[in-house]
Parts: sequence; structure tokens; C-alpha cells
Amino acid sequence: MSYFLSPDACLKWLETPSVYHARTDELYELDEASFDFLRRCSSEEGCSDSDGEFIDYCLHEGILSSDPINIIRPALSKAPQPSLRYLELQITDRCNLRCKHCYIGKDQVHELSVGQVRDILREFEQMQGLRVLITGGEPLLHSNFLSLNNLLPEFSLRKVLFSNGLLISRQLLKTLNVQEIQISIDGLEKAHDILRGTNSFVKAMRAVHLCLEAGFEVSVSTMVHTANLNDFEEMDRLFRETGVRDWTVDVPCVSGRLTTNTGLSVSPEIGGRYLKYGFGQGLHGSSQGYGCGLHLMSVMADGRASKCTFYSDNNAGSVEDGLENCWKRIAPVRLRDLECDCEYLEACRGGCRFRAETLGNPLGRDLYRCFLYDIIKTTE
Ligand code: SF4
Ligand code: SF4
Repeated sequence: MSYFLSPDACLKWLETPSVYHARTDELYELDEASFDFLRRCSSEEGCSDSDGEFIDYCLHEGILSSDPINIIRPALSKAPQPSLRYLELQITDRCNLRCKHCYIGKDQVHELSVGQVRDILREFEQMQGLRVLITGGEPLLHSNFLSLNNLLPEFSLRKVLFSNGLLISRQLLKTLNVQEIQISIDGLEKAHDILRGTNSFVKAMRAVHLCLEAGFEVSVSTMVHTANLNDFEEMDRLFRETGVRDWTVDVPCVSGRLTTNTGLSVSPEIGGRYLKYGFGQGLHGSSQGYGCGLHLMSVMADGRASKCTFYSDNNAGSVEDGLENCWKRIAPVRLRDLECDCEYLEACRGGCRFRAETLGNPLGRDLYRCFLYDIIKTTE
């Protein structure tokens, strides 16, 4: 009997040989023998082997299939170190909302062209990338979103679309080539609408339901602000009951349109308390010994690349230089270089570097996270 690598699985040669399942978002580290075996399974002839237990496991996890599948696999080459696994791609900075906390400072009209997106994704795939996070502005407002969407199946990546939900419709969902949709929900109705505009909560929740009904995985991201502090228990219940897979909670950084005089920003002492909320794995992990964003890079709508969108003013060049060249210019944050001195360093990873910087010291503590861990300590 022959077995074949399933269409959702792709070998990735990261820091260790691995196989990635783009639909379930699982990354499996492999020993060299298993990697070679699965490499043979990705050929047209498929493979057979006496290690029935490993095959059974791979069949169970959806990594192998007994159906011959004729798909062209990307070339397998070793990823740069550290590996670039998550790419945030801001395809447009157009938006149909004017959220008070948005980091996009003023009205701009930049877009990545379809050709640029194709080149970026091709190089990202060659660099053994795992997940592309398609963001904006509102990405569905890209002037050629249809063509961009048609490109996506070419790439063995997990595609996640970030949206405010306003333009999500049953019709659109029939054609959307992504595995996951992340909707921003910043509180229950009153609090969310304060930040994002009248009726935007009802529309966002409708989008969540439509996406789930159409079979997409749905995640939610929430910003802590002064108007939503009483909503977190109820949001937790609502999102779990609705079937959301991942809920990310964060405190907005003071940049772009958000100013401290909106009255919506929270102090570290207050904001830290709410960072205990959220569930799931989050969208970009790190690795032992390193701080935030070790495997993440962002590309802005004007083609500039940087560690993450908050660092757009301290960019690593333009994608026209090539994605890998930009990636090499981003220095990883080593935990031992930080001025953090607490027992939670490996768990916290020094929090958010940009937040630490806005609090006055790029190597210093992210006080929001410190207050979170103070609370955790008292409950242990
Ligand atoms: S600086 Fe903050 S936003 Fe940027 S990668 Fe690190 S944790 Fe994420
Ligand atoms: S930010 Fe605070 S809690 Fe996190 S590692 Fe640094 S000192 Fe510890």
C-alpha cells in the first residue's frame, strides 16, 4: 500500500526538520528518518514502509493519505536562522472604520500590488514560512482583492484574514481562500461601538457567526480600554460558547491615531489585570531564550518591512530588496540582554518590546506584563 503527503501537509525545514498541517495549524518536529520518509511520500509514487505505527499516527493526524494527490510541492531548502514563520502582510491601509486605537496614523492610500504579493508569498514559502496574516486597514478593501484571493491556493501556507467583519457576507465566504478569519471585537456592544463606531459590534458578531457557519476557523482579538473593563467575563463566555478557537487580548500601544487624551488608554496597573484573559495559542510564538516576535516579520502596504507593525518607523528595508534580505536585518531579542529580573522571564519573554520602549526603555520591563505576573504570583 502506498501513502501520500496530504494536500494540507507540507514539509518544513526549520530549526529542526518538521511537517506542518496548514488546516489544523499543527507543527510536528521530526527526526531525520521520519523527515526522509515523509519526503518520499510527497513524490508522485508515494511511499510504503514497515513502520506501521508512524504511518497510523500520520494518517490519524491527516498528514498522510492513501489517495494519490497530484500537487506541486514548493522546493525544500533550509530556513534562515532564526526561521521566519509568520508574515504579517498589510495589503492595504484603506479602512472603512476610524477606530480610536488604530496604529495607522492618518488617511493613507497604499496598497501592495498583486504582483508584489505573489513575489512576497513565493519567497516566504521558499523560506519555509508557515502562516501569512493578511491585514490592513481592512484587507477586503484592497482594490484587487479578488485577484489576491485567487493567488492564495498556490501557496502551502496557512492563510489568516484579519477583518473588522463589516464586509463579510455569505457570498464572499463562498470564495475566500483562507483557513482562518480573525475578527476584532473590543468589548460588548457599548464598549466596542465607542471604539469602532455605531452598530459595529452587531456587524462584527454577525461576521463571526457567518464565518463559523461557512466552516472557517474563527479567532477574535480584543484591546483592553477603559470602556470595556467590565465586559471580559461575559466576552470569555460568549466567545467560548460561540466556537471561537483563539481569543487574543492585548493593550493598545500609544501610536498612530490613539492618543492618551482619548480617555480610553489604561495604565499598566489596570491593563495588566486583563491580560490574563484570552485563550488558544496566539498567532506568533517565540522560542526558548528569545523575546517577542522571534519568528515574525511585517510588511506594510507601502512595501516597508519591519519586526512588527509597531516598528514601521524603524524598518528593515523594502520588500523590493527581497524578503530574506529584510529578515536578516532584524535582530532577534535575546532574553539575557533584557533588564528583566523576574522568575517569569521564560513564560513572559519580557512582554512586548514596543510597549517597553514606549514606557521609556527598549531593554526594560513591559510594566503591563509585570502587573499581570504580580497577580499570577499572588494566586499561586
Ligand atoms: S513588539 Fe509587541 S507587537 Fe511587536 S512583535 Fe513584539 S509583542 Fe508583538
Ligand atoms: S516584563 Fe516584567 S514580568 Fe515580563 S519578564 Fe520582564 S520583569 Fe518579568
